[in-house]
Amino acid sequence: MKRWYCGLALLAAGMAVSGGALSLTANGSAALREALGHGLVTVAVIGLILCAMLRPKAMRADAVAIGSDAAAEGCAPKCTFADVAANAEALHSLEQLRDYLVQPEKYSRYGARMPRGVLLYGPPGTGKTLLAKALAGEAGVPFYALSGSDFLEKYVGVGAMRVRELFKKARKSGKCVIFIDEIDAMGKRRSDNSSDERDQTLNALLSEMSGFHSGEGVIVLAATNRLEMLDPALLRPGRFDRQIEVGLPGKRERLSILELHSRNKPLGDDVCLERLAAETVYFSGASLENLLNEAAILAATRDEAAISMQDIRTALVRTIVGADRESTATRAERRTIALHEAGHAVATKILMPKHRLTRVSILPAGRGAAGYNLAIPPERVMLSKRDLENQICVLLAGRAAELLILGEDALTAGASNDLERAAETAAAMVTELGMAGEPAVSLKALGRACGNAGDSAQRCRELLAELYQRTQRLLGEHVEALGRLAEALLERETLSDEEIAAILGDLSSESQKSTKTDGFH
Ligand code: ADP
Ligand code: ZN
Repeated sequence: MKRWYCGLALLAAGMAVSGGALSLTANGSAALREALGHGLVTVAVIGLILCAMLRPKAMRADAVAIGSDAAAEGCAPKCTFADVAANAEALHSLEQLRDYLVQPEKYSRYGARMPRGVLLYGPPGTGKTLLAKALAGEAGVPFYALSGSDFLEKYVGVGAMRVRELFKKARKSGKCVIFIDEIDAMGKRRSDNSSDERDQTLNALLSEMSGFHSGEGVIVLAATNRLEMLDPALLRPGRFDRQIEVGLPGKRERLSILELHSRNKPLGDDVCLERLAAETVYFSGASLENLLNEAAILAATRDEAAISMQDIRTALVRTIVGADRESTATRAERRTIALHEAGHAVATKILMPKHRLTRVSILPAGRGAAGYNLAIPPERVMLSKRDLENQICVLLAGRAAELLILGEDALTAGASNDLERAAETAAAMVTELGMAGEPAVSLKALGRACGNAGDSAQRCRELLAELYQRTQRLLGEHVEALGRLAEALLERETLSDEEIAAILGDLSSESQKSTKTDGFH
């Protein structure tokens, strides 16, 4: 049997790549914590482009390769802080380090000790490697780059030897920047079952870092997206004693990244980067760069004079859900897909009116989706209980629409991913967030401490059943709108935000009286 699922899940997966999600990502509670806690606070930071910064006159040096097979990244010596948009806090910190690398005497006169190691942490694609390269480029010193996984070897002692080799070479060159990407691969918290090889590698790194003087001008930068996994010994003074969060860009930061990366691209008059910045919530710097590049390729393929907004829109959909493909579904299957997607869309419009539903489609997209909803979430710092409930309802609405219109015997496997993600969200609400039943109890922590997580599975089922009923009632009340949208999808296959709005009318204001929506309170 061909296994298809709907694109609502896909969307979250796609968004997860860029660090966040419309609703919750598939990997559950860690992502949930990110979404609920500090993870999105960076949205408020104002981004700026540091383009006017002067480069020191010192000669720029190329990156130096280390080891025979563990290849070091070649660094573009041209790379400077002007190539980094946003990340104001990290840039400020690195400016200081640049100053120190260029004139260490200034700092030693004051008896100031510079950090030996700086840890950059945050989601992938936010510019951590770029920042490290830019520091070396600015200071005009060699750049040694390796990934933590390069040090992991089958034979005990080889990784440790590599570490010593790296530091030896680096120190020979005098001042330099050493960059260790994915340091969590080698610097995981040591535990009873950790391997000898990893322990030795980590110990070698710790002793090398304690071994050089702060006056030597060697700065070690490391990057990770899992700070909590690191061995505490790495974070002690004299090691990575400065830690800088490199978070996902907020709207203004996204605009400055887009401006930076469109400088060498001919943009058509209709391109509005501001609008694009607003629509790319949770995109990382790398995804934004990739988006513009995809759009440029589209324009070049068609020999256009400039990149149009349409190119960018097509690229946006492609980067999130993959390219649209011809449908091979039968008539009956298309009807089911249309109803299923219309169910998600109607529920999104009513329960999450702040989300911009930009595209609903029954065309298969990349990665095996039979159809999809593309909704842009509002910029948020935290998700509330109501938000999470609404997300579950939206996830369940595809299945609810199938059941409501087609009946139980016609149910398909298309909802499998929706159901999985709804269950994960419910489990987080019940076991970690105290959002179902006891408001002050973390069943997960209790389970760890007492060896018994209680009746969490049963509670999750009750919560899901309740939210499912809520969703069914909601769709039942709007069954005409559901039918209208499904018909339109069958006819036109893909609908834009304007078309969806015209078909559905203003469902949200009509139902706001009786329904709890995601409006900010
Ligand atoms: P990370 O190391 O955090 O995974 P990278 O530094 O490898 O991310 O980023 C990959 C690419 O994304 C960069 O080379 C750059 O083109 C783009 N990019 C990411 N963040 C930024 C930013 N803040 N400003 C400009 N470009 C960025
Ligand atoms: Zn679905």
